[in-house]
Amino acid sequence: SEPVLSVENLSLRYRVPGGAIAALRNVSIAVRQGEVLGIAGESGCGKSTLAAAMIDLVGTNAEVTSGVVRLNGRDILALSPVDRRRLRGREIAMVFQDPMTAFSPVLTVGAQLVDFQFNLDGLAGREKWRRARDMLARVGLSDPDHAMGRFPHELSGGMRQRAAIAAALLMRPSVLIADEPTTALDVTMEAQIVHLLRQLQADYRCAIVIVTHHLGVIAELCDRVAVMYAGEVVEEAPVDALFHDPRHPYTRALLACDPARIEAATGRLPAIGGRLPDLSSPPTGCSFADRCGIATDRCRVAPPPRVGLGPDRNALCHEVAP
Ligand code: ATP
Ligand code: MG
Repeated sequence: SEPVLSVENLSLRYRVPGGAIAALRNVSIAVRQGEVLGIAGESGCGKSTLAAAMIDLVGTNAEVTSGVVRLNGRDILALSPVDRRRLRGREIAMVFQDPMTAFSPVLTVGAQLVDFQFNLDGLAGREKWRRARDMLARVGLSDPDHAMGRFPHELSGGMRQRAAIAAALLMRPSVLIADEPTTALDVTMEAQIVHLLRQLQADYRCAIVIVTHHLGVIAELCDRVAVMYAGEVVEEAPVDALFHDPRHPYTRALLACDPARIEAATGRLPAIGGRLPDLSSPPTGCSFADRCGIATDRCRVAPPPRVGLGPDRNALCHEVAP
């Protein structure tokens, strides 16, 4: 089927004092209706930047230098700021690592969930309240009426994240973007939120794009995965294929790592030496060449080709065989 959301050859840089950081380089990825796409990769590889670009929420120092982002067929970067804002919440919504991002601390959860429905002109306040309450029940708050009257900080972390998910789903968007939605939670709550997202996805058939550094979350939730490295998608694959037969040397290294050690690492994979390239002057050859066990001289000088490896499968590598 047609993708609900697609990013085509997107390049984005952040202006910083004295230069620019090439945070996304020629990224192409799509998600179809009812599909869950995972974005994985170590810290600083551009996951959050890609997620934010998909919903047009990049910071003011960000500059898209090429490419398009298409939501339900429309090039959102070409729309006026007013039209872009109108899409947000209605057709596409976002859930962040910190659920407080979704809420103001000074209003009750219920009041805010009602306010988020300002677009629904024909609806009475009473009806908006009922929709909000029902959505809180739907995301698993056991006493939604009580929760409606609470301030965000009065809910536990897990409940707050559920309420933030309710806020994102209130307008029934066709795409939900979630950037590390479980990272701040403990293991039990993480499993519950993953379970909830899977249920919601099955019920509402919305597409989900989830950013996570947790490979367990990817395995549980995702249909397809984009592995990023230094601002590029280096491998794209259906989730089973990725885990059973990773093809890009970076994916192989990532999967060989103990996840707990990846978390503790700062821009460094413990299993392999070397560092992330400097994104203010990305290498002309393969970005991963310095850390790659099978790199040749060619890898260091020539940009790698994107090699098709089957349906929904490709890798950006000189050495991978089709
Ligand atoms: P993490 O796993 O730590 O969340 P990430 O994969 O989400 O990392 P991004 O936050 O997208 O990575 O950052 C990609 C690159 O862009 C990094 O080098 C980062 O330092 C840089 N960057 C991100 N946001 C900005 C900004 N607003 N201004 C300048 N540089 C930025
Ligand atoms: Mg991030």
